[in-house]
Amino acid sequence: MPCMTMSSFWQPVSMRIEGIQTEIDGVFTYDLRFTKSADRTSYHFEPGQFNMLYLPGVGEAAISLSGDRMAESVWRHTVRVAGRVTHTLSRCRVGDTLGVRGPFGQGWPIDAWVGDDIVLVAGGIGLAPMRPVIYEFLRRRAEFGQITLIHGARTPETLLYSTEHAGWERGGIVVQATVDRASSTWRGHQGVVTLLLDRLSIARPQRTHVAMCGPEIMMRYAAISAARRGISDERMWVSLERNMQCAAGLCGHCQLGPMFVCKDGPVFRADRVHSLLAVEAL
Ligand SMILES: Cc1cc2nc3c(=O)[nH]c(=O)nc-3n(C[C@H](O)[C@H](O)[C@H](O)COP(=O)(O)OP(=O)(O)OC[C@H]3O[C@@H](n4cnc5c(N)ncnc54)[C@H](O)[C@@H]3O)c2cc1C
Repeated sequence: MPCMTMSSFWQPVSMRIEGIQTEIDGVFTYDLRFTKSADRTSYHFEPGQFNMLYLPGVGEAAISLSGDRMAESVWRHTVRVAGRVTHTLSRCRVGDTLGVRGPFGQGWPIDAWVGDDIVLVAGGIGLAPMRPVIYEFLRRRAEFGQITLIHGARTPETLLYSTEHAGWERGGIVVQATVDRASSTWRGHQGVVTLLLDRLSIARPQRTHVAMCGPEIMMRYAAISAARRGISDERMWVSLERNMQCAAGLCGHCQLGPMFVCKDGPVFRADRVHSLLAVEAL
């Protein structure tokens, strides 16, 4: 199990909520810090990996790491209130503790992208698992060609991390935001992310990677758009979500054909999952 050094993967470690930021309505970012210093020494995750957050008596939920992997000892998670676990989490306060198992899964293959152009396509909260990649790009900007982030949301108010976008642009990442429903003050794009992908200047499709995270329908259409632009399936990457329980490839809840989303994903090369994307959780 990659990076699974701080405990057995069944055994949650205790983490304390150090900070809570309201990102948008119903979406909060939690800064978690190990309560035991021994756990801090093995602190490490790869962009795109996830943790299982455990609230005793309530349950566990898979949540991606959304912070900077170089930020010392703080594991940041951005959570949309969906059901039992996330609703209970939304009532937690700074100083409360919870259990964490992880990190799990395969992240974004950043090192394989060195020298190439990158297009990140994120829908809604799908930007959360991509933010650690963005921090990595900002740190290693000179190693990559053109980097573009296309981020779509329902309304301008629901664009995630909007206060950071200008800083990302200053760091050399082109940020294009688009919304389904514009407000009277919105000066950006309107429409689905694929419209922006269709219009994007792609100078060297054979040296361009497209990484996608968001609703599956969005990723499906973004993949069609990227294919039209000459980008092959081997250069497209998707982060998938399935109902997850053990997170270790044993229980079968997140099985996708011969693969497990928790262990073989959540990031997959598109050609590995293309024919399986219509399959719902088992
Ligand atoms: C690898 C991975 C990474 C994830 N990262 C994040 C993240 O960074 N932030 C975040 O907010 N959420 C993330 N999720 C989704 C999160 O795990 C689910 O929303 C989870 O079910 C929340 O637990 P809950 O007990 O609050 O809700 P539940 O009671 O489990 O579910 C609430 C509702 O959401 C539906 N649902 C459950 N799981 C999913 C799913 N995977 N996709 C779509 N609908 C679902 C249920 O059917 C139900 O209607 C991730 C999921 C996976 C598999």
